[in-house]
Amino acid sequence: MDPSSSAASASSLSPSPALTPPPDCAICPRLQAFRQDNRTAYPQFHNAPVSPFGSLRARLLIVGLAPGLKGANQTGRPFTGDYAGDLLYATLTAFGFATGSYGKHPGDGLELRDCRVTNAVRCVPPENKPTTAEIHSCRPFLEDELANMPNLRVILSLGGISHGAVLVALGHKKSAFAFGHGARHRVDDHLTLIDSYHCSRYNTNTGRLTTQMFHDVFAAVRAELPHE
Ligand code: SF4
Repeated sequence: MDPSSSAASASSLSPSPALTPPPDCAICPRLQAFRQDNRTAYPQFHNAPVSPFGSLRARLLIVGLAPGLKGANQTGRPFTGDYAGDLLYATLTAFGFATGSYGKHPGDGLELRDCRVTNAVRCVPPENKPTTAEIHSCRPFLEDELANMPNLRVILSLGGISHGAVLVALGHKKSAFAFGHGARHRVDDHLTLIDSYHCSRYNTNTGRLTTQMFHDVFAAVRAELPHE
C-alpha cells in the first residue's frame, strides 16, 4: 500500500480510498466465496466488507475480530444487529462514548463520541473464524486506519486475535505484549493498548465475560481518556 496515500488522507482526515476495500474485495478467496453464498442465502443483507463506524478524529479505537454473519454483515455497521452490539453500545453509552439510542440498525441515530469502532478483518468469516492468512491480508486496512487517526490515544482490543493484529499493525511483534483481559500495555509514548475478552454472546453466556467485567475495562479506558 502506498504510504503517501496515508499521508494525504491524514491531512484531510477523511477516509482515503485505501481505507475502504471495494464491495467485491477479492483478496481473501474463501471470504469472497462465503460472501457470494450469503448473497444467495440472505439477499437483503449487506454482504460486503464492513466499514468502520465513528470519526477518525477520535481518541479511542475499538478493534473487534470480524463482522458477525447476522450482525454487521447483515446491517453494514460494526457490532450492529447481534448480541455483541447490545453489550458494546450500551456500555459505550454508559461511559459517554455514544449518544442516542442503539436500535440494532444503522439508521438508529446512534452517534459515537470520541470513539471509533472497527474490526481486524472486514468480511464475515465462516463460523466467526478468520484464518491467519486472512488476518494478515486485511491488516493493511487496519494499518491505514491507525495512520489516519492523529488523536488516537487508546486502542481497546476485543479478544486475542484483535490484540495480535493491532500489535503487528503498529510494528510490534505479537509476543511483545501478552494478551490478558483488563491488561494495559504502553505501546508507545502516546498510545495505550487495553485488552478485553470479546463481548460475544458465547463469552457472556459462559460467564467468561460479565457485564461488570466489561464495565471495569471501560472504566480503565475512561481513566486514560478524561472528558475533554
Ligand atoms: S477480509 Fe479484508 S482483505 Fe479479505 S476480502 Fe475482506 S476486505 Fe478484502
